[in-house]
Amino acid sequence: MFPMSTGNSYFDDLRNKPEVIDPPQMEDLLEVGEHVNDTSESALKPNVTISTNVRELLECPVCLNAMYPPIHQCSNGHTLCSGCKPRVHNRCPTCRHELGNIRCLALEKVAASLELPCKYQNFGCIGIYPYYSKLKHESQCTFRPYNCPYAGSECSVIGDIPFLVSHLKDDHKVDMHSGSTFNHRYVKSNPHEVENATWMLTVFSCFGQYFCLHFEAFQLGMAPVYIAFLRFMGDDNEAKNYSYSLEVGGNGRKMIWQGVPRSIRDSHRKVRDSFDGLIIQRNMALFFSGGDRKELKLRVTGRIWKEN
Ligand SMILES: [Zn+2]
Ligand SMILES: [Zn+2]
Ligand SMILES: [Zn+2]
Ligand SMILES: [Zn+2]
Repeated sequence: MFPMSTGNSYFDDLRNKPEVIDPPQMEDLLEVGEHVNDTSESALKPNVTISTNVRELLECPVCLNAMYPPIHQCSNGHTLCSGCKPRVHNRCPTCRHELGNIRCLALEKVAASLELPCKYQNFGCIGIYPYYSKLKHESQCTFRPYNCPYAGSECSVIGDIPFLVSHLKDDHKVDMHSGSTFNHRYVKSNPHEVENATWMLTVFSCFGQYFCLHFEAFQLGMAPVYIAFLRFMGDDNEAKNYSYSLEVGGNGRKMIWQGVPRSIRDSHRKVRDSFDGLIIQRNMALFFSGGDRKELKLRVTGRIWKEN
């Protein structure tokens, strides 16, 4: 049955125990979905004094995250979240007894009766939500912090916009400009090394908002290209109030792009991979640069304006 003899303890467990762990069932999840709707009707009651004990009970002992149905328990009553269950090789992490497949309905029901503040309370959200709809709210909460928009490094800093603006300036040494028009030069001495070709970020402030101008080289299929695009430091619904244009040219030719800035909620990579910006073929970029095609020298001008 298991031709692999890996010594891997997971497979060993499977061999020794005929009873294989069931993955969480889809019906269980659907059932919870309906449940959520029921409880949110009675949302926002004032009796929000929740003992921390109950909240602690709902913390998975392995991953320490809040547990959502199906919540599992061992025959001694220790609980475990459904994400961790498949990873503990059918052993209760608390008492090491066999875990089996027992669901803890009582705790699931207690959870359904809880109402908790949004986890972005410190960022200004005052919402209080039934336990099971809290996660959904938090994934869309307008107070949730933004990721650092700096591309090219795995920066994990998060925060609100004013915080991220200072972070970009102080920690990433990003160029800051004020005003809604710009005129930028990108110079690179060996444009044939597209892999090494640098990307750049400039931050513009205008209309009381902040915008990130990205410029970088990437591979579009087999073709090396450059892309420039603008991102809005704020949510998508506000980003749509603005437009921008970019122009690049030389030797009597000109390319013009007009677009809508994308929210920094969309990752830099996502915007780039959807080609939502000014794309310049490398050959054309070198032609724009003039000279002996050994140097990339692009002048990008642009403008940001507010739509009514
Ligand atoms: Zn867990
Ligand atoms: Zn146990
Ligand atoms: Zn919130
Ligand atoms: Zn950063």
